[in-house]
Amino acid sequence: MTIAERVKETRQKIYNAAVAAGRNPDEVSLVAVSKTRPAADIIECQAAGQYIFGENYVQEFAVKAAQIECPLEWHFIGHLQSNKVKNIAGLVTLIHSVDRLSLAEEINRQWGKLGSNCNILLQVNVSGEKTKSGTTVDDSIRLVRDISQLPHIRVKGLMTMPPFFEDPEEARPFFAELKMLSEQIKEEKLDNVEMQEISMGMSGDFEVAIQEGATLVRIGTAIFGSR
Ligand SMILES: *Cc1c(COP(=O)(O)O)cnc(C)c1O
Repeated sequence: MTIAERVKETRQKIYNAAVAAGRNPDEVSLVAVSKTRPAADIIECQAAGQYIFGENYVQEFAVKAAQIECPLEWHFIGHLQSNKVKNIAGLVTLIHSVDRLSLAEEINRQWGKLGSNCNILLQVNVSGEKTKSGTTVDDSIRLVRDISQLPHIRVKGLMTMPPFFEDPEEARPFFAELKMLSEQIKEEKLDNVEMQEISMGMSGDFEVAIQEGATLVRIGTAIFGSR
């Protein structure tokens, strides 16, 4: 199958999963994860109607962004070092992976220089696995309160990456917990914090994530093939 065929099939599966879960399919957006893929693959995918692309590595992203002229939207989804923020400032419409105050402060500073605001998600390590980035569930409320004070940041929601399981059902409790945390943070009614997005679900488990309330699914392998 071509990339165009796979992205169409993936979009259909997302639509079906949303409808089956009793949700409005318009509430679930596909982020095509294009890390390690050449610009040509992204252009092919965009020609098939896909507009949001997720990248993980600053250097690789910068090179590809410079090669691509067709209109699209970039999300940054990978671990982000503060000293690299300046290289993506103004180029991405959403950063999914904010997990510490120092990073948020640097994002605030760089977008402030541009005279604009950056949309971010808080990455939460729901499972507590040591190898995963993300703030802990316990620290997340304090972190979001601190970030809400930064004038050039808009917190749009939460993101998580559960441990890898062969059976996607095993990821369900982690997705459900992120959704609950999102409701809890919403009740705080903080300035600059909206909590309308929940980024969860990848190639192997996006259907379960949609059942549990995902609004952004991040899918690489199912579209571009294995890396
Ligand atoms: C690579 C990656 C994905 C996509 O994973 P697939 O299993 O290829 O769909 C999603 N989210 C993040 C943060 C990633 O790094």
